[in-house]
Formats: sequence, C-alpha cells, structure tokens
Amino acid sequence: MVRTKMAVWEGWHLAWRAGVCYTAKCENPPDRHRIWFFACDGNKILYSGKGDTALNYANIKYCDISNGTGVRTSLFVSGCRRHCENCFNKIAWDFNYGKPFDKEVRNQILASLKPDYIGGLSLLGGEPFEPENQRALVSFLHDVKILYPHKTIWCYTGNVYETELLQPSASRCEVTDEMLGYIDILVDGAFVQDLYDISLRFRGSSNQRIIDMNATRAAGHVVLWQDDPIFADHKM
Ligand code: SF4
Repeated sequence: MVRTKMAVWEGWHLAWRAGVCYTAKCENPPDRHRIWFFACDGNKILYSGKGDTALNYANIKYCDISNGTGVRTSLFVSGCRRHCENCFNKIAWDFNYGKPFDKEVRNQILASLKPDYIGGLSLLGGEPFEPENQRALVSFLHDVKILYPHKTIWCYTGNVYETELLQPSASRCEVTDEMLGYIDILVDGAFVQDLYDISLRFRGSSNQRIIDMNATRAAGHVVLWQDDPIFADHKM
C-alpha cells in the first residue's frame, strides 16, 4: 500500500508519497485553495514551484452504463490539449471550463461508489492524463482504491500507453506511474474520425485499445481486456 505522509512547512500543509509531494495547501489565508508542488526527500523540501493544479470538472454522470462495465460513476475532467477532430467533448478542452473539483465533490463521488451495484469509477475528459490533471487526480484515485479496493477504475486517455505514458513525453510527469498504478482498465489512443465505428463497445474509433492494466502489469507487456464473449470483437 502506498503511504501518505503529512507535514506542515512554513504554513503549508503538505502531503507526499513515494518521495514526491503532490498536494500542499496554505493556511494563511485559510480559505486559499491554490495548490503548489514540492519535491521532497521525505523530510526536506528540495524544490518548490508554482503549480496551480486545482482541477475543474466538466460533468459527473452517476449510474452511467456507457463508459465501462456495469453501473458506474463517470467523472469528466476539464482540460485537453490534443484537440482531436470531431472530439465528443470539445467544451472540456478548456482547463477553466466547469466547476472546481473540490472536497465536497470528491466526497459526493466517493459516496456514490458505495452501493454494491456500482462497479466503480470511470475517468474521462478532457484528458485525465494532462500533467496538471494527473497531479490533481492522483490523491483522489488513491482514496478510491483505499475505500473500494474491489471496485474498478477505468480511465480514457488520448495518449498511447507505451509511447506517451511510459516514455518521456509532454504527458508524462512525476505522478504518472502512481496514477497508472491505480487504473484497472485504460482506454488509450486519440479519437480518429476515419476509424470511427458506432458498434464498438466503450470506445469511439478502432485504433483505441481497451487495456487490462492488471494483466499488463503482471505480464510486462500490453494485454487487452477480454470482453464478455457475447460481445465478440468488443462490438455491440
Ligand atoms: S483526447 Fe479526448 S477530450 Fe481530448 S480532443 Fe481527443 S477525444 Fe477530445
């Protein structure tokens, strides 16, 4: 289990895991919610920098059956720089669109996941793997996994897993590996209009892959998710 450490440093409440501080909140003034980033070695502050990563979300769908198996809570975050042609959610390209992903919203989502009939959480966008969105989401995904270890987290990204999330890229940052570690199913790849197929299950275009992340971690190479045989070829 990844442990969270807390500390107060010059009026900032810090939390960090695995040597990387991912949230900090100033208590002076107490209503300040701006988040900064620090690199820590567990005790000392090694680096601090401006990192206004307060996340906005575009939409939340409760009891969603379209974005993963079973009945789910789906969170659509704001912000995406990829700008795919005919993106399904252009309005969420703007990082400032929507409402703040604050503590109250987090708690509402966590509560929504509690019933036995809810299979888990789905993350969509916008782009959950924009670096600033990763930094804001990673502690929340940690909480989801701690509270609901048997529920699944699906995540949609325009990035290609091996080349843009595992290799140095504009999307990869200091919390990418931790965030990937919380995800059970990753639907990867940009939406490509020429490959659009309305019959595909849980994805828009045929280049996009539904990756079983637990099997992938165990195998050391990409393992695609196996749908129920009744939906052969991941089609409806
Ligand atoms: S990655 Fe997703 S949100 Fe971003 S432009 Fe493409 S389809 Fe739209």
